[in-house]
Amino acid sequence: MRLTESLALVGSGEARLTDRYDCNVYAIEAPDGAVLVDMGGGRAARRLLENARGTIGDPVGALLTHAHADHSQGGPALQRAGVPVIASNASADLLRTGTEAELGIVAAKRDGVYPPDYEFANYEPDRAVAPGTTITVGGRAFDVVSLRGHASDHVCYVTETDEGRVCFVGDAVYPDGSISLLNVSGSSLAAYRSDIGNLCGRDIDALLPGHGLPRLEDGQESVDQAAEALDGMYVPPSKT
Ligand SMILES: [Zn+2]
Repeated sequence: MRLTESLALVGSGEARLTDRYDCNVYAIEAPDGAVLVDMGGGRAARRLLENARGTIGDPVGALLTHAHADHSQGGPALQRAGVPVIASNASADLLRTGTEAELGIVAAKRDGVYPPDYEFANYEPDRAVAPGTTITVGGRAFDVVSLRGHASDHVCYVTETDEGRVCFVGDAVYPDGSISLLNVSGSSLAAYRSDIGNLCGRDIDALLPGHGLPRLEDGQESVDQAAEALDGMYVPPSKT
């Protein structure tokens, strides 16, 4: 589903564009092909690839925002298809050795988010990157921005396009300005407070979240709204 000249939504469980356990998966144009952001839950990786090829181009790499299963478990299937997986150092650790308790899956199974027989597959990403650096994937540059709070390993990716500045924000901030605080290991309001400033003052145009609808203009307003709420005394509006 093309969003702009350079961007497409290629996976979404909510829209049933792909498997129901998939987060939003995006493809962005790069000089060497398409770069995917997030990988879905792993049951529809072939369709993600087909959707990317049918819109933006052949995937040359996949960036992970955080290791939660609905974002990360498509990784092994993408690797088998020749698409390298790139994750932050903290996400890479969780992908390698994270337990279902550390990844929030125990609680998610109890609440019916995943089926009881769901199993998280640990795997080795192809490349681990440090927050606060700029990386190049498929010839396109991305700033890796630490934004912990929803999860202890969460990062966002910011990149420039002819249509403006794009932020793949994962599950950190939604277009309505709400955050996503969970009652599971790794989720922390204190971490949100310490990291939200990393995304302030960036003049973001498109804010592309891991769930729900994207916002293609004035995305910085959503981030600023979340930052302002995190400055206050009460727990900010939060959704899953
Ligand atoms: Zn998540």
